Amino acid sequence: MNVKQRTLSGMQSSGRLHLGNYMGALVNWVRLQSSHDAFFFIADWHALSTNYEDTSRVRDFTREMVVDWLAAGLDPEQCTIFQQSRVPEHAILHVLFSMITPLPWLERNPTYKDQQANIGDRDLATYGFLGYPVLQAADILLYRPQQVPVGVDQLPHVELTREIARRFNHLYGEVFPIPQTPLTETPKLPGLDGRKMSKSYGNAVFLCDSPQERWDKVRTMVTDPQRVRRTDPGDPEVCPVYGLHEAFSDPVTRQEVAEGCRTAGIGCIDCKKRLNGFLDERFTPIYERRQEIVADRGRVEGVIIDGSEKAAKVAAETLAQVYDAMHIPPFTR
Ligand code: SF4
Repeated sequence: MNVKQRTLSGMQSSGRLHLGNYMGALVNWVRLQSSHDAFFFIADWHALSTNYEDTSRVRDFTREMVVDWLAAGLDPEQCTIFQQSRVPEHAILHVLFSMITPLPWLERNPTYKDQQANIGDRDLATYGFLGYPVLQAADILLYRPQQVPVGVDQLPHVELTREIARRFNHLYGEVFPIPQTPLTETPKLPGLDGRKMSKSYGNAVFLCDSPQERWDKVRTMVTDPQRVRRTDPGDPEVCPVYGLHEAFSDPVTRQEVAEGCRTAGIGCIDCKKRLNGFLDERFTPIYERRQEIVADRGRVEGVIIDGSEKAAKVAAETLAQVYDAMHIPPFTR
């Protein structure tokens, strides 16, 4: 019998999902769920690392995200969908890993520096924000996956997970396999303003945007700033609209648009309309499925509870091995 390899990935529950989340992770997750023993989790504690002041929407965000997952094609019959905070073993392993993680490993983390520079409206000089990758290591290693598919911006974090696993194994004996980190195909997507698409930057197109809302956003997107008049030639390489063409349009369209842009043969609105056609094809069915799922409250709650129970069993088995390796008395409720 072929035993499926275990794969695990998670997302912060900090709001609705956008096209960058979809291309950077969800497309890959939907593919993996049939070929792997797949675990996908809602990282609701992680959401607190950047949004600790206002927790009033944490529950709604969790629910909204699972709605997006299901609408995008995740199937709870094929994979395990669970919520981090429903499996307290994550917090326990986090504490134990905190003891063995050298501080410089966290301080040199590029995401830490990048987010501190880009998110100006919150104080992120907290222990929780700095220690975020240690909690992430616990999230991952509790399930001892063979692989963790990641977007390129998560690579340094998962590399830290691998380092923590190696350090633990070196200190206490081999408990954790070192997970591989296959990169997802389209790791970065430009947002409406040309920066990376991100909820925090307010430049995202969301899976829950209606076709009209989506078009309104695309229509007003930033383009090549040098192309002021319709008759000015542009450079698609510096235009975020073209960045989205690269992710969603077919090769013929991409070529025609790039050529038309460079020769001023196409106007920006026409270019955006062509992009929007491809977005409609892919995201309107997801939007419609989403509307059906939203209407069925019990379904989403049931998926989270069942998946979290299944995850907790696996987590408890790993933690028992950790306690044994560290000579700590076993955890009993
Ligand atoms: S034609 Fe398209 S690629 Fe060129 S600047 Fe306008 S929107 Fe951007």
